[in-house]
Formats: sequence, structure tokens, C-alpha cells
Amino acid sequence: MRIGILAVQGAFAEHEQMLESLGAEHFQIRQKKDLNVPFDGLILPGGESTVMGKLLRELDLFEPLNLLIKKGFPVFGTCAGLLLLAQKISNDDRTYFGSMALTAKRNAYGRQLGSFEANAEFKDVGNVPMIFIRAPYIEEVLDNTQILSKVDRNIVAAKQGNQLVTAFHPELTNNTSVHEHFLKIVMEHKS
Ligand code: GLN
Repeated sequence: MRIGILAVQGAFAEHEQMLESLGAEHFQIRQKKDLNVPFDGLILPGGESTVMGKLLRELDLFEPLNLLIKKGFPVFGTCAGLLLLAQKISNDDRTYFGSMALTAKRNAYGRQLGSFEANAEFKDVGNVPMIFIRAPYIEEVLDNTQILSKVDRNIVAAKQGNQLVTAFHPELTNNTSVHEHFLKIVMEHKS
């Protein structure tokens, strides 16, 4: 099993460490030729969705990744990665892959609550520590998108097919359970 981590901007190094600690093979996706070696799952990290969206286009990574995602390839988006997958962003005109049937709100917690930590139940995973940094939340899920976790009535994790998103950063904690959950999705897709 080999996981590609989008590494054009943002918090990709923390995802690498997480996968390293789980013994999962991983590599950085920085340019189109990085996609030539077969892989089984994709991580879209936190960062700035607008910058990542722009770089994805400039580096010709957008179309090949879009195709993979639309075909049902396992993908895990954290924070800005969630925004890259959202079908709609209620307070921004831009959308990117738009593959997940949900509406997200960008920088949803305002300035006062730019960063905070919480602990909440995550479906099929248990209680997980959560770090939010200028985070979005999910205002509404549509179609067959499943809600996995809520903090203060706001949806902070969801799944649709092989797509998993969290508004928070599990890679910034030492709890590996959300990444393990994603690796399970990858394994099931592979077999
Ligand atoms: N606020 C960022 C955005 O809009 C997301 C923040 C993050 O990924 N930590 O893309």
C-alpha cells in the first residue's frame, strides 16, 4: 500500500510522520511526474485552499487528480483539503475538485476562535483529540455523505464513498486512529 501526499503547500510533513509511525509507505506529490508510479490513496493536507487550488492548476496536477478522485480513488482531506473536495463553499465562490456532496464554510469559527482544541466521538473510530486551525466546518451534507463527527453542533468530519474529510488536523496530534481509519478504506478499495 502506497499513499501519495499532496506536497505543494501546507502541513504535509505532519501527514508523512503520521504514516511513517503507522508503517505505511508514502511519497510526496509535487509535480505531474510524481503520479507515474502507482499508488493506492491520496492525502490532501491543511494549508491555504486558495493557494493549493492555484498551484494544482499551475503544476498540471489538477486534472489527473480530479480524474482519480471522480473514479472513486480513496482520498483523505484535512482542513484546506476538505475545502478542495467540497461541492460548495458557502462563503467563497471558488470550488476545486467539488467531489463531495457537502457545503463547507471557510474560516468558519471567526477570528476569536481561530485555533482551538476539542475532543469528540468519531463514528467507528472512538473519541479523538482534534486541533482546529482557521478551520472550516461542514454546514450541510447532501446525498449519501455520512456525518462522522460533530463539535458543538457543527459537522467536523464526513465520508462519502472512499472520500474522508476532517475540518480538524488529526496529523497534529499523536492519535493515529483517524489515519488508521483512512488506511482501512484504502485497503478495502485495493482488495
Ligand atoms: N483557512 C484555510 C483555508 O481556507 C484552511 C486552514 C487550514 O488548513 N489549517 O484554506
